[in-house]
Amino acid sequence: MKLLIAFYFSTLSVFAQLDNKVIRDLKTGKIIDDKSHVYFLPYEKGKKYLLIQASNSQMSHKNEVALDFKMKKGSKICAARGGKVIALRKDSQRGGLKQEYLSEGNYIIIEHDDGSHAKYWHLDYQGVFVDLGETVKQGQLIGLSGHTGYSAFPHLHFELTDREGKQILCRFKTKKGNIYLRPARKYTCVH
Ligand SMILES: [Zn+2]
Repeated sequence: MKLLIAFYFSTLSVFAQLDNKVIRDLKTGKIIDDKSHVYFLPYEKGKKYLLIQASNSQMSHKNEVALDFKMKKGSKICAARGGKVIALRKDSQRGGLKQEYLSEGNYIIIEHDDGSHAKYWHLDYQGVFVDLGETVKQGQLIGLSGHTGYSAFPHLHFELTDREGKQILCRFKTKKGNIYLRPARKYTCVH
């Protein structure tokens, strides 16, 4: 895929309008010029967190497409994309690695204008700052991270699903361009 895209771009005269770094990034696949929406990292601008796992890594997300960002309880969570709050929970005080905690996570689900949903999971007790039905902007503070639900350590679980409910990947805006994230790396939120 990347090769195809690189080839595609190498055949375009559009390069004439781009600077050398952008051209290099496109060719190496750092930037994939698809037309998908570009998300903000789901936390405060300027903050940097470690991505523990991404799609299909060898931890609890085997066969799952989701992202876990390691962060201290009480870290600010911001909307990765604007939309409407369609579900939330904030009254749970329970979390850890017991099966019984599976349904004990605090969360926010935001629906986007293309019907996709972003899910922000394991939020802190009372760590939800939006209301059901509220419209939020991209980058807006929506809550605080925590350790509720089935969770090995304090972190944010971020998951995106399409209108059919299938988990999908997305590109995020980073210092290195609009990229698909890789685990075991730290990413700074830029707007
Ligand atoms: Zn997770």
